[in-house]
Amino acid sequence: MARLATAAGVTRYFLEAVGKFATARLRRVGALPIYPHWEVRAEVCERCPLRVIRCGVSYCGSPLLRQIDRDPAIDGCGCPCHDKAKSAEEHCPIDRHHQPAVSDDGGCNCKWCEREIRKSNDESNLKSE
Ligand code: SF4
Ligand SMILES: [Zn+2]
Repeated sequence: MARLATAAGVTRYFLEAVGKFATARLRRVGALPIYPHWEVRAEVCERCPLRVIRCGVSYCGSPLLRQIDRDPAIDGCGCPCHDKAKSAEEHCPIDRHHQPAVSDDGGCNCKWCEREIRKSNDESNLKSE
């Protein structure tokens, strides 16, 4: 069934997108910190079926302005993957079973966080051998 975008929902999405765009620009000029393991996240995106390439840039789903009415767990969030990966506050919208990711006090099960935990466990196991 088609989803209908409410005016409030569209406005919220636009404001979020403008905020993300502004923080990405600040990050690029060094005014904001870059998440230290962003390459691990970006690598996950490169293998993700939701990834879309537009003009040589990887996006989480089709770019936001091409599709405003969206469910991030199904359509992706529409952000450029690298910009999103560099922000410590961002998470992938899905888990490794392609279900909506859940985050709470116990942590986050998104594809990015799950991959980072696995990677750090692998590194700990190697050190202890
Ligand atoms: S953020 Fe998650 S859903 Fe989006 S492209 Fe990256 S891995 Fe896929
Ligand atoms: Zn996460």
